[in-house]
Amino acid sequence: MDLSYSQEHEDFRQEVQNFLSDNWPLEGAEAELPRQEQDARFRERAIERGYLARPIPRKYGGSEQTPEVLKGTIIREEFGRVGAPRDPGVPHAQIVPTLLSHGSEWQKERLIPPTLRGRLLWCQGYSEPGSGSDLASVQTRAERVGDEWVINGQKIWTSDAHEAEMMYLLCRTDPDAPKHAGMSYLLLRMDQPGVEVRPLEQMDGGAHFSEVFFDDARTPADHIVGKRGEGWIVSRSTLHAERNVVGNVTLVRRHLDSLLRLARVSVRDGRPAIADPLVRQRLVELEGYVTAQEYSAYRQLTCDARGENPGPGVIMNKLVSTNIAQMAAKIGLDLIGEKGLSAPIGGRFGAAPETGAGWVARYMAARSTAIAGGTSNIQRNIIGERGLGLPRDFAAQRHK
Ligand SMILES: Cc1cc2nc3c(=O)[nH]c(=O)nc-3n(C[C@H](O)[C@H](O)[C@H](O)COP(=O)(O)OP(=O)(O)OC[C@H]3O[C@@H](n4cnc5c(N)ncnc54)[C@H](O)[C@@H]3O)c2cc1C
Repeated sequence: MDLSYSQEHEDFRQEVQNFLSDNWPLEGAEAELPRQEQDARFRERAIERGYLARPIPRKYGGSEQTPEVLKGTIIREEFGRVGAPRDPGVPHAQIVPTLLSHGSEWQKERLIPPTLRGRLLWCQGYSEPGSGSDLASVQTRAERVGDEWVINGQKIWTSDAHEAEMMYLLCRTDPDAPKHAGMSYLLLRMDQPGVEVRPLEQMDGGAHFSEVFFDDARTPADHIVGKRGEGWIVSRSTLHAERNVVGNVTLVRRHLDSLLRLARVSVRDGRPAIADPLVRQRLVELEGYVTAQEYSAYRQLTCDARGENPGPGVIMNKLVSTNIAQMAAKIGLDLIGEKGLSAPIGGRFGAAPETGAGWVARYMAARSTAIAGGTSNIQRNIIGERGLGLPRDFAAQRHK
């Protein structure tokens, strides 16, 4: 493990900092534009300078840089520090690599550039009321009629469906084929009469995901990614991308720092909570997990930078970081005590800790990130089977 940056990388960091201070936030008339347009304009400049969409070829709207793990890390750190927009969120991180690996030429040329800038918004149509972890059991049907696919069925838990212009979805196109072989991966416009989006109210009061109903929804025949019946293989690249995003390990240190601030200002039995031995014990235990995860991330980074295989730690990132987030949120909730009953649940990182703002929301969010993109139990199966070489999950085999 090598924790230092070379002079070349420190120079690069300075270059990124200069770019950011010249370009973010936008100024003058541009600062009055809607936020989505501001983000898109900034991304355009960042791609032009080679800071975003780095591995994506220029002909597909990327900046086509030679892969360089440490430069990518510096960009993430510096953009994160000033809150500048990076790549536009989870669906982008899924659909772009999927199209690059399996898409046709027109799909790559027309769909990837606006997606990279955040001008084309997507949602993921995988889960259904009867299929979540067991994704291969999807029942939504797509039938080929002339030059179109005609889609009937229902998806659920579709994040941002109410804002998205396009959905990528798994449909059953060959009901008589074995379940993994009978699915296809389609692209669909959301603004059409056959698509109905019904937002679901969440326990935190938001409505970020929806049920989506298809009643003879239509999409052109060439809006299939890969061949008919290859949906399972194509969807694997999408899920892999999602795990990498959700498993972002840098978040865990922010959880701990934020909790330490809260423990310093919260009062227990007339003294700061951080002076209470029982609170300290829980914080120290959490710090142990956070530090171990950070070092694991540094080791993975070093291996990546040297072109070596980073080993099974990579498939543990999501489980470990979501466990840490849940542990931190539980301590935070205990520290704010009865303030949790009146705390504004929309609060974010950086909110004044003594108000308790953000901890109720964080507690709820920590539960949902442990489910989204593959539940913790499914992560454990993956670690056991692929990481440790244990036999396949008995229950999963039985249901095949
Ligand atoms: C915040 C959030 C956003 C989401 N966004 C989207 C989205 O945009 N698009 C989309 O398609 N879906 C989305 N989902 C849905 C998510 O992918 C599913 O909820 C998830 O895959 C679990 O499926 P399920 O809810 O059907 O639970 P189930 O699969 O029914 O699981 C129920 C329980 O059984 C356990 N279990 C199931 N199978 C096994 C097994 N083989 N071994 C051990 N334990 C098992 C699970 O761990 C879980 O505890 C989102 C979910 C959340 C929470």
